[in-house]
Amino acid sequence: MSLECYQCKKEVHRWNDATVLHAIAWNEPLFILLKHAKCLQCSPSRSQHIIHPQFEPVVDDRPEFDKRLWSDPESDVYKKHGPEFIEECTMRYTGAWVVMQEKYKEENPIFETQPKKKENDERSNN
Ligand SMILES: [Zn+2]
Repeated sequence: MSLECYQCKKEVHRWNDATVLHAIAWNEPLFILLKHAKCLQCSPSRSQHIIHPQFEPVVDDRPEFDKRLWSDPESDVYKKHGPEFIEECTMRYTGAWVVMQEKYKEENPIFETQPKKKENDERSNN
């Protein structure tokens, strides 16, 4: 089953759905039911926190969401959540993203669960 991103109108798969990402990251399963599907590319405020070799890094330039501003002690996010919050978000969102790829890997032709050990293979051949 595939859905449509309510923003860009492109097809959204479960493994690329920011709504699913949010629900897993913050352990809020009902979030999926309450929100429309939205692809990760249309949700940079969340996908900026995914740091993984198989995920192309996303930057959110909007000042109200840009995590790069959070390390500033004067920023609202810093004041509210403290200096550790960036790391927590990275952990939650990256972890949730990996869970999503595993969970929906049948539908996902891109994700490789086991990264190829190309370097080692080449060495053993020599
Ligand atoms: Zn979209």
